[in-house]
Amino acid sequence: MSTRQMPGQLELVFDVPVLTDDLRAELTSHVLPGWQAMGACRSVADDTWFPEPTETGLKSAAVDRCVFCPVRRSCLAYALAGDEEYGVWGGTTELQRDVLVRDLVDGASVVDALDGATLLPEFLWRQAS
Ligand code: SF4
Repeated sequence: MSTRQMPGQLELVFDVPVLTDDLRAELTSHVLPGWQAMGACRSVADDTWFPEPTETGLKSAAVDRCVFCPVRRSCLAYALAGDEEYGVWGGTTELQRDVLVRDLVDGASVVDALDGATLLPEFLWRQAS
C-alpha cells in the first residue's frame, strides 16, 4: 500500500492499494498492441499530458482531449497495469486512477471499471469521482 499526498488548498493524504498480479494481467489483456501509435495525443507535446498537480486547467484540457481518442481504453488499462502515478492517461487524472485501483482491489470487475471510466461522458465521470 502506498500513500499519495496532493498539493493544493487542502492536503489530501490517502492510501492507494496495490494491484494484485492477477489484476495487472487482466488489465494488460485489455491493451491493444500498438495502441500508442493510434492515440489522439501522438502529435501533442508530452508535457501537455503531465501537468503539475496544481495546474488544474492544463489537466482538464488534457482530459478533454482524450474524450474521442480511439484507444482510450487501452491507454487507461496500460496506465493502471503499469502503476502510472503521474499525468493524464485514458482521460483520467492521478486521483481518478487511484479511485479505480481502490475499486479493483475491493472487487470491482476490470471490465466494469474500464467501461465506467471510458464510456461515460466526461461530465458524468467527473461527477462520479
Ligand atoms: S486516451 Fe488520451 S492520453 Fe491516452 S492515447 Fe488517447 S489522447 Fe493520449
